[in-house]
Amino acid sequence: MPPIVAIVGRPNVGKSTLFNRLTRGRRAITHDLPGVTRDRLEAPAEIEGRFVTLVDTGGMDYEAEESLARQIVEQAEAALVTADVVLFLVDGKAGRTALEDDLAERLRRLGKPVIVAVNKVDGLERVAAMTADFHAWGLPLLAISAAHGQGMAELAEAIAERLPEAEPYDPDAPLIQTVLRLAVLGRPNAGKSSLINALVGESRLIVSDIAGTTRDAVDVVVHQKGKRYLFVDTAGVRKRTRITDGLERYSVAKALSSAKRADVAVVVIDATGGVGVQDKRLISFLDSERKAFLVAVNKTDLVPQKDMLALQKDIARELRMCSHVPVLYMSAAKGKGVAKVLPQAESIWAECQIRIGTGELNRAMRASLDKHQPPLVNGRRAKFYYLTQAADAPPTFVFFVSDTERVRDSYIKYLENSLRKLFGIATAPVKVVCRASH
Ligand code: GDP
Ligand code: GDP
Repeated sequence: MPPIVAIVGRPNVGKSTLFNRLTRGRRAITHDLPGVTRDRLEAPAEIEGRFVTLVDTGGMDYEAEESLARQIVEQAEAALVTADVVLFLVDGKAGRTALEDDLAERLRRLGKPVIVAVNKVDGLERVAAMTADFHAWGLPLLAISAAHGQGMAELAEAIAERLPEAEPYDPDAPLIQTVLRLAVLGRPNAGKSSLINALVGESRLIVSDIAGTTRDAVDVVVHQKGKRYLFVDTAGVRKRTRITDGLERYSVAKALSSAKRADVAVVVIDATGGVGVQDKRLISFLDSERKAFLVAVNKTDLVPQKDMLALQKDIARELRMCSHVPVLYMSAAKGKGVAKVLPQAESIWAECQIRIGTGELNRAMRASLDKHQPPLVNGRRAKFYYLTQAADAPPTFVFFVSDTERVRDSYIKYLENSLRKLFGIATAPVKVVCRASH
């Protein structure tokens, strides 16, 4: 496992800005470590030639203002348990706060390497003035500007110096980060087992039973190209149950509970049958849950070339409510088109991790709100005050408005599309919420 570098600090000091800079926007995420909560962001980063896992302890709940302080400390402490190096980010413009004094004291007692990075020191003239206050903590300190990239080389050097010794390279080392949890869903006979077998076929299958899972919820771990993928709940998929009454019951509810355990769902559709009623139900459920998923249209080897266009149109029609969902055409039996599944799933998941600072979000969305004003509803318009990103995976945006009753679904859809365009969210689900604010 690569060493863990945790960024702690109160909201708005620039954690996500620094996180994005250090990971260069790579957001392949693992939520695999024990005790790691969903709202913590992790991504691989390269620091002076060493791979590390960078953890951003952000993701504060904006609703719970009064308990914010407590949450920051709790989050920070949880992150510290696993961290090898702690990056304590503070805001040079805003200066020291009592909460930070507290945190500094805890960090000092922790006995782990801590670096204080004083952020927002844009331009070099005022470095001394902006950092002076923070020297009181007696911790190693440097001045940076995450937004402009100043001090990054020094920061990388300071981190690298404090990383634990690298382990000697072992090509057979078994455990790598879990890149993704996948659920393969679809009607019986669509080709789910064939797809999993095709994917597993070209890699090493390590375990098929993981402690703690029930017998009909078998997770399969697949190692491929130095990455670890987990197929959840494959028992129902892999084992051919003896069908006595000629009808295998297909439960959307069960599919959904598998989907809940996964980061990304793969919906397998049998191209020879077209999009059936059950496929439609499953897709619309996943969409309404804002689940990350892709559609795998299987058995294309059985579809005559002349019918392909009609099939594609049929699929597009079914997905018109969620046109962001990628569609892959394949033949699992022949192994054609299968290789695209994991990279596609990974890239959806990477998009799910996007995190946009409140300032940037409001600046960017202002134009969209001005260009198409919220429509009049019963003679009045809702006022949009500001918005913030409340969560990732799925990226969730909260608009604070004067009157939620006056915001129509079509306008929400417009806002969603604007966010997608502005921030390049092409394939991930996006959740837009309006909340009343006075
Ligand atoms: P987080 O809440 O700690 O994740 O903070 P963000 O990364 O969202 O940043 C909060 C605000 O500070 C945003 O408006 C950023 O644009 C701004 N910011 C971040 N880094 C810098 C910096 O180096 N200089 C300046 N002037 N602003 C910054
Ligand atoms: P599952 O019930 O969804 O797991 O479906 P299976 O993977 O067991 O596949 C059902 C049947 O379809 C089997 O007979 C497979 O051999 C066949 N099948 C699966 N994928 C393909 C494909 O791409 N092309 C063709 N021609 N047959 C396929």
